[in-house]
Amino acid sequence: MTFQTLGLAAELLKAVEQTGYTTPTPVQMQAIPAAIAGHDLLVSSHTGSGKTAAFTLPALHKIIDRRPAPGSGPRVLVLTPTRELALQVEKAVQTYGKALRWLNTACLVGGAPMFAQLKQLQRQCDVVVATPGRLLDHLNRRKVKLSDVEVLILDEADRMLDMGFAEDIDAIVAATSSKRQTLLFSATLDGVVGSMAERMTRNPQRIEI
Ligand code: AMP
Repeated sequence: MTFQTLGLAAELLKAVEQTGYTTPTPVQMQAIPAAIAGHDLLVSSHTGSGKTAAFTLPALHKIIDRRPAPGSGPRVLVLTPTRELALQVEKAVQTYGKALRWLNTACLVGGAPMFAQLKQLQRQCDVVVATPGRLLDHLNRRKVKLSDVEVLILDEADRMLDMGFAEDIDAIVAATSSKRQTLLFSATLDGVVGSMAERMTRNPQRIEI
């Protein structure tokens, strides 16, 4: 199987080609077409499986042919457990989204100065990558609105729960529209992750690698 068969827009295929990837990984083969078809997804996958591209590419595909309306909030939101992971995801979004000249991203993580993040939020942000605590802080201060989020991605959901972010995640998800698409990635899909997934997704497709 090649990336060409997954249904991605030409601009994204070009970016993938420039990174040097030739063959999609198993999680990419399954998750990308299912996400493009509009399904909610529950994906069990580990770091190193290629999961970042598996959610970043279909999320960009969804927003690629419509520039944001003035004043609209982010259309893609990625929640990650750590600052390091958030920065990696933001970098991936910028790499794969290189052809979208209008694309703006913001990375809202704890331990980083508030001032710079507030400045980022003053311009249009299409994709926000965030750790839950800091995003909730911005949300409570009304510095970001999440009602325009079309794709919500929970990356390493099990780790976020282990770190005690369950309530923060619930509050964040409650601020998004119920029309959103939700893609949840986690090492495990059982137990507390499973019940969170049940609350947040609609008829999800389960992908276990
Ligand atoms: P991830 O699991 O998202 O952390 O990705 C692990 C590593 O695999 C990263 O360094 C990616 O750049 C790389 N990668 C992702 N997809 C592919 C692919 N289809 N072919 C080769 N390398 C890839």
